[in-house]
Amino acid sequence: MPTNRTFTMIKPDAAQDGNSGSIIKMIEEAGFRIVALKRTQLTVERAGEFYAVHSERPFYNDLCQYMSSGPIVPMILEKENAVADFRILIGATNPANADEGTIRKLFAKSIEANAIHGSDSDENAEIEGGFFFAHTEQF
Ligand code: UDP
Ligand code: MG
Repeated sequence: MPTNRTFTMIKPDAAQDGNSGSIIKMIEEAGFRIVALKRTQLTVERAGEFYAVHSERPFYNDLCQYMSSGPIVPMILEKENAVADFRILIGATNPANADEGTIRKLFAKSIEANAIHGSDSDENAEIEGGFFFAHTEQF
């Protein structure tokens, strides 16, 4: 059964540039309720754990370095059809291919430093939310 929740994090490039507020405003205006939110920083090992599914990809080591290079803002979000609707709001992985008005089109610097993460399934949303927040069923 769909959980109506997704997981996101504002990535180091966007957090460092002071774009967290603008991005959170876009998320709320799109109808997502913020269930959990914090500001934290990953170690390179924790980043590697989060992106373990990509460990065989050529960009993995750079990605882990980048994702641990500064603060991030992880969040759990709630909305009907949250996972799919949020992927639309953020836009394509490569900002060069992202639709106008999407978060990545507006704020991403490159295919790596692409401003924001969005879960790709209900199952991964649950796992990824649990990676950063405990006891989320109470929120
Ligand atoms: N990434 C990268 N190079 C690539 C593809 C992806 O650096 O060629 C990074 C980028 O930050 C991306 C993350 O790895 O957001 C995870 O990749 P995925 O294919 O899951 O993209 P997403 O689901 O974030 O759109
Ligand atoms: Mg992905």
